[in-house]
Amino acid sequence: MRLLVTGGAGFIGSEFVRQLMSGRLRTELAPDCWNTDPELQVTVLDSLSYSGVRENLEDLEGTPGYRFVHGDIRDTALVGEVMDGQEAVVHFAAETHVDRSIKEAAPFVTTNVLGTHVLLEAARAHRVRRFLHVSTDEVYGSIDEGSWGTDQPLSPNSPYAASKAASDLLALSFHRTFGMDVVVTRCSNNYGPRQFPEKVIPLFVTRLLEGLPVPLYGDGSHVRDWLHVSDHCRGIALALSRGRAGEVYHFGGGRELSNLELAAELVRLTGARPDLIRRVSDRRGHDLRYSLDIGRSRRELGYEPRVPFGRGLCDTVSWYRDSRSWWEPLTNRVEECAGAVG
Ligand code: NAD
Repeated sequence: MRLLVTGGAGFIGSEFVRQLMSGRLRTELAPDCWNTDPELQVTVLDSLSYSGVRENLEDLEGTPGYRFVHGDIRDTALVGEVMDGQEAVVHFAAETHVDRSIKEAAPFVTTNVLGTHVLLEAARAHRVRRFLHVSTDEVYGSIDEGSWGTDQPLSPNSPYAASKAASDLLALSFHRTFGMDVVVTRCSNNYGPRQFPEKVIPLFVTRLLEGLPVPLYGDGSHVRDWLHVSDHCRGIALALSRGRAGEVYHFGGGRELSNLELAAELVRLTGARPDLIRRVSDRRGHDLRYSLDIGRSRRELGYEPRVPFGRGLCDTVSWYRDSRSWWEPLTNRVEECAGAVG
């Protein structure tokens, strides 16, 4: 299988590529899924924006079947070149931080919407067999009770979520209008190693390890479901090989927590002082709760999250404790954001 992975130097994309190249997704990606060449060839296209970390993939340099292309998904000529000969695209590349989108939405529109359009056009022109677009639960807005089905109308609230919703709809329109084989996946908040330290878990862990205060939005009652990044990547591989064209698949972790509960757990795991949690004024337009119904992914893909939250969080904190050389150089790229909860 010849696969183009956009945004492969980021948090989730790099986990996906490492899992792919190490053979851990072999069962999920049945070799005969499209009757294709069983040999895996992975091209990563990444512009190494502030959240792209080349070192995330350095172990793979020189591995047969792996290639890194430093470039932008908005670059039509380059995207045309790298698309040539690909069988499938897994599209992670995006501007991803809600707080940054509130400060300046333009990069979210150009990368998430226009960049996705450039990729879709190139995939269509090169007759790529499947285009998997990675998206988020945030496109649905906020839900007080219950869970969203995949047929829920989109109602995004932040510029980030609106740009992802636009790109989801664009991707699905290429299926309906041009008959392109497009699959969209939407997931809840990911956590795990190598997440850029502006997002809530790594931000809090790295600051608490330094004995620095951490900012909690409002009263901390906002609720998120937490999904280990390895479970998300397994879900993506399942959707890539077994998903139906034109469909949306949900991946969640099945563990809801308020941000206050999460902060308290991180204080406990890092051994920091509880008074380091400082309340700050709430994020503008802050969604109260997200919740995905993962029934279709269970039934059609056999997806089930495997990493229990307690163990996954403990391992993640240990990883940051042991990986200062990874995150310390990145902290100067973290903007002063009020709270950083996804
Ligand atoms: P990330 O910010 O860690 O990585 C994004 C990657 O995209 C980086 O490597 C960056 O360099 C690259 N990139 C950005 N703009 C680019 C451009 N114009 N051209 C080429 N590359 C570009 O993000 P992540 O957390 O790994 O998220 C990956 C995907 O998953 C995104 O599409 C995001 O919307 C989605 N998602 C993430 C979460 C989460 O909790 N992290 C939840 C739901 C959905």
